[in-house]
Amino acid sequence: ASAATGDIKLVKSVCTHCSVGCTVIAEVQNGVWVGQEPGWDSPFNLGAHCAKGASVREHAHGERRLKHPTKMVDGKWTKISWDQAINEIGDKLLEIYETSGPDSAYWLGSAKHNNEQAYLFRKFYAFWGSNNGDHQARICHSTTVAGVANTWGYGAMTNSYNDIHNSRAIFQIGGNPAEAHPVAMQHMLKAKEQNNAPFIVCDPRFTRTAAHADEYVRFRPGTDVGLIWGILWHVFENGWEDKEFIRQRVWGMDQIKAEVAKWTPEETERVTGVPGSQLKRVARTLANNRPFTIIWCMGGTQHTNGNNNTRAYCVLGLALGVVGTQGGGTNIFRGHDNVQGATDLGVLCHTLPGYYGLKAGSWKHWSRVWDVDYEWLKGRFASKDFMEKSGVPVSRWFDLALEAKENIDQNDNLRAMVFWGHAANSQTRLPDMKKAMEKLDMLVIVDPYPTMAAVMNDRKDGTYLLPAATQFETHGSVTASNRSLQWRDKIFDPLFESKTDHEIMYLLAKKLGFADEMFKNIKVENDIPLIEDVTREFNRGMWTIGYTGQSPERLKTHMANQHTFDKTTLQARGGPADGDYYGLPWPSWGTAEMGHPGTPVLYDTSKPVAEGGLCFRARFGVEREGDNLLAEGSYPVGSEIKDGYPEFTMAMLKKLGWDKDLTADEKAAIEKVAGDKTNWKTDLSGGIQRVAIKHGCAPFGNAKARTVVWNFPDPVPTHREPLYTSRRDLVADYPTYEDRKMYRLPILFKS
Ligand code: SF4
Repeated sequence: ASAATGDIKLVKSVCTHCSVGCTVIAEVQNGVWVGQEPGWDSPFNLGAHCAKGASVREHAHGERRLKHPTKMVDGKWTKISWDQAINEIGDKLLEIYETSGPDSAYWLGSAKHNNEQAYLFRKFYAFWGSNNGDHQARICHSTTVAGVANTWGYGAMTNSYNDIHNSRAIFQIGGNPAEAHPVAMQHMLKAKEQNNAPFIVCDPRFTRTAAHADEYVRFRPGTDVGLIWGILWHVFENGWEDKEFIRQRVWGMDQIKAEVAKWTPEETERVTGVPGSQLKRVARTLANNRPFTIIWCMGGTQHTNGNNNTRAYCVLGLALGVVGTQGGGTNIFRGHDNVQGATDLGVLCHTLPGYYGLKAGSWKHWSRVWDVDYEWLKGRFASKDFMEKSGVPVSRWFDLALEAKENIDQNDNLRAMVFWGHAANSQTRLPDMKKAMEKLDMLVIVDPYPTMAAVMNDRKDGTYLLPAATQFETHGSVTASNRSLQWRDKIFDPLFESKTDHEIMYLLAKKLGFADEMFKNIKVENDIPLIEDVTREFNRGMWTIGYTGQSPERLKTHMANQHTFDKTTLQARGGPADGDYYGLPWPSWGTAEMGHPGTPVLYDTSKPVAEGGLCFRARFGVEREGDNLLAEGSYPVGSEIKDGYPEFTMAMLKKLGWDKDLTADEKAAIEKVAGDKTNWKTDLSGGIQRVAIKHGCAPFGNAKARTVVWNFPDPVPTHREPLYTSRRDLVADYPTYEDRKMYRLPILFKS
């Protein structure tokens, strides 16, 4: 470009059209986004964008973008100013808050928020005084999160997109990546090409993905569990299971085996429609080609038995021992670009950021992070009960408007609904939703585009459309489906009169009277909160899943270093290496200064259990390190296996010969705490110096304990309160994450 027209600047950003997280290299001239290339150096992109990714520039500039705030008056859309919009919406909300209570408004957030906006959105409806908020994850992969987290700990993809080409076989079920995640599909095809990896596709429909399959398994919709059990029948029948892996690491496989025994080839064929001969072939292929990856998408999740499906997929991986290794694992392709991040950051009706539950301990934890008085925050809610009770999921918000519900305080119905980056067309029962919309006092849609939510009802008044900027008009972090946080740079300023989500949240919080508290430690200039301060704030609170080590500075540097524009260097390396990944996949424990590199593959099973390797079998894993004896484990709330839990712990210690190191007091402490799960706090406050029993997930509470028993049925570290005066103190106390080598040890339990 000539000096007169301005040089072209290259800005690295991240595609917004699916969860793969491909890099977009934007060409910007005089502040205008004039061209686009794929990040050819990216280990995700493989030098390409798919058709969706190639269209992001046009999409961001779309003619149908909302250009200014608009209000429906007597059935006609009327242009209004931002001041008028915020004032009118705010006044109505304040009236609703006063007369009907905070639960009479619903805050429907979005997987299109970046992490900082998602976090602020959750904080926003907490400060408003309600848990009535949710986002798209509820209707796509919530069954995955429940199924996978309850099987082995984290409700997320275990490996990375670019690890798939290390797989020796691919087992794809309930997904169509050739259309939905096309660049991820390239990694699958690469595995096929370079490893001769057999590609098995199970789907009731013959899809474009199935067209690439070596083995296409057509089965009856909804019979996934039967299909998996049918495959496992052949695995067990022929002794193809990984016995050593199961013996060391998997608890409960005997019960599964007993169940699978009922799924004979004849029975499986009767239920699923798949002949036994084909299932035997599939089982043999998987057994002969390990590690294989298991990939699923919403064909597996959007069922009333979606949890069972996703757990069955996990069990297949455990039986054949392919979890916790490169090329293996369960790779769950999510939908929107930040559906993982928005879930992690708590845009849900039943959790706070970091999967902290809604118990008082969680609220206290976040009150400390937010630097607000817990009692003040509690006062924002209709009552403590409402504060600690789940809100209503998005799939049922309209019931709330149509009928008086117990979730609504002061016996009133839902009166205001805010669709913030949620189009509504992904939901079922649209006629009910339409009816509910028409009953509301106020409907607010915040979006770059007029969505279906804006037009599907026949309201005459009280509907507002607020133009939001796209994700290319701001910056912040985004978490791809593979848990990797990347920094997405702003490409151009918000178009027309649109504003970024965080600016709109600030304006509304100011009008509603809680901006000073909500943005206490976040710098705000010209009504725009500083995104980097938001990242730093959630870094201080997200101990549970390791969102603590990804500071904005680190993410920016990481992106810049990994995405070099230096073609020569990259070519000398022969392109992106297998181990390359963008950003910092969680968990990245500790503080940014500690430099934890992130975790591309969850659940490292490379070491035997006795050496601290992952143990799915144990309620507790135990690890020795010098004089330190560390034990860690988990059991899910409500699972059967919590019975016998202290016995198991001691058995585990004995088995490893480490029980001898325990003093009588320590033994008693383990037995006492493990035996009394209702009163952890009291037990721990007994001043135990060498043994700490963790009821939460954060690795920092026990910096000085000699023995750590770590349990996370509910990640509310209530017992930690006496120890946990200031996070910063603990961090200062803490040697390094690497020194301690803490593992979270998930387990398997029966459905
Ligand atoms: Fe964008 Fe997904 Fe296509 Fe990559 S695969 S270019 S992230 S839509």
